[in-house]
Amino acid sequence: MKISFYGSAGIVTGSNYLLEIGEKKILVDCGMFQGGRQINRLNFQPFPYQPEEIDFLVLTHAHIDHSGRIPNLVKAGFEGKIYCTKATFDLCSILLPDSGHIQEMETEWDNRKRARAGLSLRTPLYTVEEALSSLKCFSPVLYNQKITIDETFTFRFQDAGHILGSAIVELWIKEGDRICKIVFSGDLGSKNKPIIRDPAIITEADYLILDSTYGDRIHPSYDKEAVRLIPIITETRERGGNVIIPSFAIQRAQDIIYELNKYYDQIISVKEDDFLDIPVYVDSPLTISATEIFIRNPDCFDADALALIKAGDNPLDFHNLYYSRTTQESKDLNDSKGSKVIISASGMCTAGRIKHHLKHNLWRKESSIVFVGYQAEGTLGRRIIDGAKTVKIFGEDISVKAQKYVLDGFSGHADQLETIQWLRGFKKSPGTVFLVHGEPGSLQALSGLIRQEFNIKTIIPQMGDNFLIKGTSRVVTARETQEAIKKEQRLFEEEALGLKEIMDLVLEQLDNKTKEGLSEA
Ligand SMILES: [Zn+2]
Repeated sequence: MKISFYGSAGIVTGSNYLLEIGEKKILVDCGMFQGGRQINRLNFQPFPYQPEEIDFLVLTHAHIDHSGRIPNLVKAGFEGKIYCTKATFDLCSILLPDSGHIQEMETEWDNRKRARAGLSLRTPLYTVEEALSSLKCFSPVLYNQKITIDETFTFRFQDAGHILGSAIVELWIKEGDRICKIVFSGDLGSKNKPIIRDPAIITEADYLILDSTYGDRIHPSYDKEAVRLIPIITETRERGGNVIIPSFAIQRAQDIIYELNKYYDQIISVKEDDFLDIPVYVDSPLTISATEIFIRNPDCFDADALALIKAGDNPLDFHNLYYSRTTQESKDLNDSKGSKVIISASGMCTAGRIKHHLKHNLWRKESSIVFVGYQAEGTLGRRIIDGAKTVKIFGEDISVKAQKYVLDGFSGHADQLETIQWLRGFKKSPGTVFLVHGEPGSLQALSGLIRQEFNIKTIIPQMGDNFLIKGTSRVVTARETQEAIKKEQRLFEEEALGLKEIMDLVLEQLDNKTKEGLSEA
């Protein structure tokens, strides 16, 4: 069996793994590369395999860096099924067309510049139409159910605790008379996150492909950070300002709504009587659609969220929560008086309605900006956190006077400690752990810790590396794999040469026979 790493290898994004067993080929994830210009360019490269030869794809979760190239894969000839959880399918059905829309917009903008420069025009990576058409391949299945595809493959999704619908994949592969179990952690979430269940404990694997996002970091606990929200809101109201929360549309925004619901629907009592008068606005069409999907998938909820529903409280809706769907409703927020909380996207402040709210509030020292997610290098969010005195928004210089808060506990990924704790759940440790989905520092740190604590072999694959997996215990390294492939090629050539010699011999014999026949005649 061969495993190839065509994404998230040595870098974070573009998750894409190919497994080959004899003639059969399957993929796990088909994500988009996200990052600087160089990394984005990788999305336009042809797939390093023939999409039409792939039997099926297993998708761990809906995030674009795991699902974002599915429309491309289908466009390039893939006709198999895409297995995922139902919630992942629901989220992909809004995220992929949204991504198609972004591709179309970016290409249109780029083409205007190219036309002026006399350059040839480009086609988008994929369109809304193509994204919608790729949804026909999706085949949602239940968590915890073993799905047997054929005599070779059986898989099961277990909770990953990362976002709604996210899954750890357990994959059993029959090769000859042996069964080998490979586990893909997917993006592994934190324990005790709101709404969704904790990551499932997996007790055995022969090989593990492990998320290493925070392999070198430990973040503060969710509970400690979440309670900070309320005093931030009341203090901002006392100053007469607004609370602006840039948030990712999926899971993070719902985590905040869920947290605020506890106070607004008075599951936890508030000291200030008039706290409940402060309105909360969700101002992002994608976040509104995602929240509706959450409400439609309560089978993914944890015991606490289900207890609220049973007690008659919708945990994602509360008194004084409003959704602004139209552009006009969004604009009206900046004209209206009175303090309010505004949850808007994009999470890193690079696009979307959040930029308008920052333009109207950053310069006001009475307002607050609350960061609840990672802000990548080079983004507007990062510049604000790093202490820029002024920032440019829509071509205008805006001075940064508002109060800034960073709440790290809302992270969607397990930190170093939680990842190690999750690994302690294995009763039969994997023989080899492949570390993926991390920056070099995280990968190295986690690799060292795993070797030290569990004495397990670790491998940090690079893009395009492939490994032969021998039975249930041995991995042949990339170099050895290359040599093995070369050897196979040599054998094939030798065989071909041998075949040619045989053919020559046969032809010679035939020739002689003909001559003999002729002489006989
Ligand atoms: Zn993710």
